[in-house]
Amino acid sequence: MRRCAACDRRAGGAAALQQSQAVWLEVGALAGVETEALRFGFDVVMKDSIAQDAKLEIIPVAGQAWCMACMKNVAIQQRYDSCPECGGHQLQVNGGEELRIKELEVV
Ligand SMILES: [Zn+2]
Repeated sequence: MRRCAACDRRAGGAAALQQSQAVWLEVGALAGVETEALRFGFDVVMKDSIAQDAKLEIIPVAGQAWCMACMKNVAIQQRYDSCPECGGHQLQVNGGEELRIKELEVV
């Protein structure tokens, strides 16, 4: 019987997911996520699942925006902050809104 290489890879991936050890999650400063609540929710949701022993590693991502007056990216702490260099408010957020899985550690 011939075996499909793609099917073997998928089967291997499913087996690996059963042994997930850690999840690295990027959380932007402007994502509106409370990390302690996220950690609590992660533990509750993962309980009795295939990833119940997985650790949650949070990678903080700084807020960033394009200032139209300065014509460059600037760091911001929260949405609607003014530009730290010119004090203007013509900012377009372009970083720090992430909430995504960066990496999974599997055995
Ligand atoms: Zn500026």
